[in-house]
Amino acid sequence: MRRSMSTRLNSSSGLTLLKGDSEELRSQAHRKRCEYLQEGAATYLIMRIVSYTNICVADCSYCAFYRKPNDPEGYVLSNEAIFKKLDDLIAAGGSLVAMEGGFHPKLKIDHYENLFRTVRTRYGNTLEIYGPTIVEVIFIARSSRISLEEALLRLQKAGLSWIPGGGAEILTNRWRHKLSPRKYSVEEYLDGMELAQRLGFGTTATMVIGFGESWEDRLEHLEHIRNLQDKTGGFSSFLLWTYQSDNTALGGERIDNQEYLKSVAISRLYLDNIPIIRASFLTQGNRGPLALKWGASDFDIVLEDQVTQLAGATIEPNIKRVLEQVKEAKIEPLQRQPFLQPFRALV
Ligand code: SF4
Repeated sequence: MRRSMSTRLNSSSGLTLLKGDSEELRSQAHRKRCEYLQEGAATYLIMRIVSYTNICVADCSYCAFYRKPNDPEGYVLSNEAIFKKLDDLIAAGGSLVAMEGGFHPKLKIDHYENLFRTVRTRYGNTLEIYGPTIVEVIFIARSSRISLEEALLRLQKAGLSWIPGGGAEILTNRWRHKLSPRKYSVEEYLDGMELAQRLGFGTTATMVIGFGESWEDRLEHLEHIRNLQDKTGGFSSFLLWTYQSDNTALGGERIDNQEYLKSVAISRLYLDNIPIIRASFLTQGNRGPLALKWGASDFDIVLEDQVTQLAGATIEPNIKRVLEQVKEAKIEPLQRQPFLQPFRALV
């Protein structure tokens, strides 16, 4: 693994760095990022998040997307509606779909097996499919009365090969209890991801900031991710985005972009065992390219994400315009495939 244990950040040295000169933090993170990808370049994917259902019983206070069972606005997408979205994604040059939903109390494991088998059969390897987050899979397993291992294996057999890092938000039990008490504990989240990695799924890691959590909370989250990565090496990237507060029960203000950039930088330095730090253009909009000089080396062009859009995120529909914004920051955007092996070799 590419890291120097003797100089690894910890909570104390991380806080000291965060309290110090911001330019020094940025420059250290940028140097670290350039160990993985040359300066003046950034990789990107064109993708879409397809929310196959918005019915959910988890009641997370930061979520503007979900509807309770029997709500007239609740839906489960038909296969035809999903195919239309995926056809549009491919036509736009996309290569990755994240298919996620909520904790739907009536959909059992066979529903998801059919869904992923149908999508995999129709699209083959034209699209990589990120499946439900591990918290969703835990819910599916429990409501189907099977073990998590069996649920994962059945989804894998149906054609699913990636479990994305969503559902992590802030990995401290204090914050999970406060914001999303039905979304499982830190230990359940990490054990679930470790199991998925052991069974051969590709995985990514994420963090969402801006709920009012402290820098100590964020560093605790990074410590959990880094520890699991030391053990398994299973995370291929880390994505950081900001809580969008419109139409949510929790409400509140969005954090400013400077705080986002500092969080990207400290993540790059802390996660010395993860090759790719991804900037969220989805939540940071046209300020997203700045993160590519604060430690991030990759970004997604997202064509749709109902979850963040309903909470106030605005998507730039013109892919060329997004790429121009990156070039205006003097960075060459390089489209990549979602499989990531060239970068994993560097870890
Ligand atoms: S964030 Fe996900 S799990 Fe939580 S209420 Fe929204 S859809 Fe449900």
